[in-house]
Formats: sequence, C-alpha cells, structure tokens
Amino acid sequence: MKRILITGGAGFIGSHLTDAYLAQGDEIVILDDLSTGALENIQPFLDNPATKSRITFVQDTILNPAALEPEIERADKVIHLAAAVGVQYIIDNPLHSLVVNLNGTESVLRLCDKYSKKVFIASTSEVYGKQTHAPLRETDDSHFGPTYRQRWSYAGGKMMDEFFSLAYHQSEALEVVVARLFNTVGPRQKGTYGMVIPRFVQQAMSGEPITVYGDGTQTRTFTHVAEVVACIMALIDTPAAYGSVVNIGGVEEVSIMDLAKRVLERTGSSSEILVIPYDEAYPKEFEDMQRRVPSTERLQKLVGFAPQLPLERILNDVVSHFELTQVQGQTASSVVNR
Ligand code: UDP
Repeated sequence: MKRILITGGAGFIGSHLTDAYLAQGDEIVILDDLSTGALENIQPFLDNPATKSRITFVQDTILNPAALEPEIERADKVIHLAAAVGVQYIIDNPLHSLVVNLNGTESVLRLCDKYSKKVFIASTSEVYGKQTHAPLRETDDSHFGPTYRQRWSYAGGKMMDEFFSLAYHQSEALEVVVARLFNTVGPRQKGTYGMVIPRFVQQAMSGEPITVYGDGTQTRTFTHVAEVVACIMALIDTPAAYGSVVNIGGVEEVSIMDLAKRVLERTGSSSEILVIPYDEAYPKEFEDMQRRVPSTERLQKLVGFAPQLPLERILNDVVSHFELTQVQGQTASSVVNR
C-alpha cells in the first residue's frame, strides 16, 4: 500500500484518480482548497466503510507551506493537479490564477525535491498555443499571442511549470514527469467554468439553446477521464518518463458544431443551436484555439498504451451521469417536499 498525495484531488480528474488508487488498495491524501473542486466529488469515498480509513482530506491551498510540506514529506508519491483551470475561471481571476499555477507548482516541485518524492505535474495542450497542424507532438514549437490577451497567461504559466519541472530534473535529478492533458471529459465534470461537453449536455437536457461559440468550425479531441487516470498512474511509475513532457489525449477530432449536433442526437433534445460570436461569448480580445489533435506516440512508447475511447462512449457516460444526478435530485427534492 502506497500513500499518495493528490493536490487538487477534489476536482474532476482528481476524484477519478482517487477512486482508482483506492480501488487498488492505496492510501490517499487530498489537498484541495475547493476553489473549483467540490467535496461532493469525494464524499462517497470519505463515507464508504471500505475506503474511509484510507482517505484523508485536507482543505487548504498549495500556497500554504504549513499544509503542503508535511503531506509531501509523508507521501510516497505526489500527483500535482491543483491549478486554476477553465477558460472562464482564468479570465475572471487572472492574478490568483498565475500565483497558484506558478508559485504553487514551484513549491510542490521544491518540496518533492527536498524529500526525494516522485511527482507527476499536470500541464495542458494549451501550451501548443495557436498551432493548427495535426497531430501536435511534444517536440513542436509553442505559438502564443501577446500578453495583453489574457488567455495566454494560462498557457504561459503552464509552460513555465514545464520549464521548472525539467530544470528540477536536470539540476536535481528530481523524478518528475509532466503531461499535457488535452480536453478531458467524463462524469462529475461541471460546465460552470466553460467546459464545452458538460455545458452542451446540460443545455440539451434542460431544453435550453446549445451555445456554439465562434462559427463552430474549431475542433477538439476529447479524452475519457478513465483513460487519462490510467495514463497518469502508469506515467508516474515509469522511470523512462522522468524528465519528459508527454501528451495525453484522445483520438477523435470533432468540430464544435458537430459536437453540438451529436449531443442533440444522443440526448434526443429539441434544443436549438445558437451560434454566438466570440466577442459576445468571451471578453474582448479573446483568441480561441482552432484545432487541437494530439500525437500519443511518446505516451505509447513509454507506457505501452494510449487513450482510445470514441466520442460516442464519452458522450454516453456524460449523459448517463447527468440523467442519474437528475433522478437523484428529483428524489432528494421529493423527500424534502414531503
Ligand atoms: N465552447 C462553445 N460553447 C460553450 C463552451 C465552449 O462553443 O458553451 C467552445 C470553445 O470556444 C472552444 C471549445 O468549445 O472552442 C472547447 O472549449 P472548452 O472551454 O471546453 O476547452 P478549451 O479547449 O477551450 O480549453
């Protein structure tokens, strides 16, 4: 049994990772300030008699060394997911996002180095910036916009996290692996901070218009969270991966307009599709990424597998989750109303 510290463990990806480690018998410590994470994501593990003795939740920020340091010292390995994420959140909280994503990550790396702990650092496909060729390889250039366009502060911050990680590996032999996560989707993800699939599914299921931003020709590939979790667990235990940056992304490129149609089809919704120009959807000067398709060759070489699940399966899981929470919500409110 290993003791694993997951920063940001109450978030969407972190809670799935917690689930997977607990299922294989490990002990989990979650450090999360609940800024975008939610206690309800991990409450089932805190309540379940089979897991509650193996999970500890610490509500605190990675910016507080008094909380972070003892947990890193006690852990066998560290998965660092805590970050300011989501286009909307970054735009609304530009300063705090930079402080968390830069200072927070550097603290995690420094303390992992101090106590010789292996560490996984979550980065993002945003680091490729405006590149539009496919597939995107880890050796490709990054292409960012100017600094007055806020979106790039997230990509720039995450790029510095990558530089920090590589420098700790080179200078201090820290066992660190960085992964660039492409759009990860699955049950428990919320649409609150922009994420397109939960937003579309929520809109379709409540009969509201589906909001397609721009002209809808921009594309993404989506990855099922269960596959992302398997890749993270494999990478942190792969010594050949230390000192590398590795893409984790899905296989099926889809335009956002086609995605909207697929969501309508899957949910049987009669919602209309509303095309909203970027300057109405986002603050002025926003730049969207036109295309984002990963090469997973490096990942395959390192761990022997890569995400494969098609969009259909991903949408099925997200829609089923929303249906389930709707039923649970109705049951809860009927109990309250009685
Ligand atoms: N998007 C959209 N409608 C929404 C939310 C997002 O058309 O309600 C678009 C967004 O402009 C982008 C894509 O969907 O082109 C993916 O957005 P998301 O925020 O999920 O992830 P990103 O890839 O931008 O980080």
